[in-house]
Amino acid sequence: MPHTELQKIRKELHRNPELSGYEVNTARIIAEYLTPLKADELLTNVGGHGVVCTFNGHQPGPHILLRCDMDALPIQEVNTFDHKSTKENVSHKCGHDGHTSILLGVANFLSQNKPKKGQVTLLFQPAEETGKGAIGVINDKQFRKIKPDYVFALHNLPGYEMHQIILKEDVFNASVTTMIIKLQGKTAHAAEPEHGINPSFAIADIIQEFNTYMVNDPKRDDFVVITPVYTKIGALAYGTAAGTGESHFTIRCWSQQQMNQLKSKLIQKCESTCQRYKLTSNISWEEDFQSNQNDSEAIQIIRDVAKNLDYNCLEKEEAFKWGEDFGVFTQKFKGAMFGLGAGINTPALHNPDYDFPDDLIESGIHIFTSIINKTLENNV
Ligand SMILES: [Zn+2]
Ligand SMILES: [Zn+2]
Repeated sequence: MPHTELQKIRKELHRNPELSGYEVNTARIIAEYLTPLKADELLTNVGGHGVVCTFNGHQPGPHILLRCDMDALPIQEVNTFDHKSTKENVSHKCGHDGHTSILLGVANFLSQNKPKKGQVTLLFQPAEETGKGAIGVINDKQFRKIKPDYVFALHNLPGYEMHQIILKEDVFNASVTTMIIKLQGKTAHAAEPEHGINPSFAIADIIQEFNTYMVNDPKRDDFVVITPVYTKIGALAYGTAAGTGESHFTIRCWSQQQMNQLKSKLIQKCESTCQRYKLTSNISWEEDFQSNQNDSEAIQIIRDVAKNLDYNCLEKEEAFKWGEDFGVFTQKFKGAMFGLGAGINTPALHNPDYDFPDDLIESGIHIFTSIINKTLENNV
């Protein structure tokens, strides 16, 4: 397997990172690599700049989808190596350059070893970091005919032993959303605040009240984290009492159902507070990430693969607190997301000095292709 070529592509992607929704050049590099591999179908511009290719087996069988993400982050790279990002404030700090290279390697493998039966679809998904990519792909007309029986994805995980496989039954990672509350009151002379409606007190109350809903213990099923991330009230005009304000929160819990309940509780709390202070409110939601629900059969397939290939396997008790939009797929299709250890001392994801370890390209391909074989073997 030409891993040196894949490492070169990985570094080219790293040098030329593109933000979520703008992965034009990345999609071109992917399509250029895939075209000569003669997949049975190659789709571009899926859910934005997504690329999808499918390899058909010789006999009917299950349809397996493997997904990688391909977008970069608005972070300034501080590394000085040759393949450092050439773009200011944009860099691959989540390793999606590496995930893409792994899936290209799987495509190369499949072009030489067609699946014995069924179909294998490889999805190069855009815009993971904003939570818009997976849903965009699912809603794309071109994708609608693809009906996978199994879906799998991996994420590299710094802080874990290199090549270790990290498994979690049931919930793999949190359901995450962002709540934006905008309040409209009335300005007044700062000397006469009694003539205005100042949103500051309502915002202070809302922040305090939301904090009482926190259950920041990942061991608990009713885990909830509400983090105030941004607040702006009034203007830098010292003669004026504030008349408008807004506050933004990220919200995390373990399931979509809990999220829906939590959302209505927060809306209610916000509305009753506004009523008390005679403010009008506007609530909107951004960056929705559904939690990944790992299916036990899919997890068992990965577990068997890890055992057969002699990979060290870690069964996690607690889910991860971050969002990952592959949840859109595992909520709809049977499947699983798993972690691939990226080294104990590798800088954390989204840190300015992070870089995807190239050694993972080989193990990633190895694990993914073995998952395909195992899934086909299980479905006689
Ligand atoms: Zn990320
Ligand atoms: Zn990521």
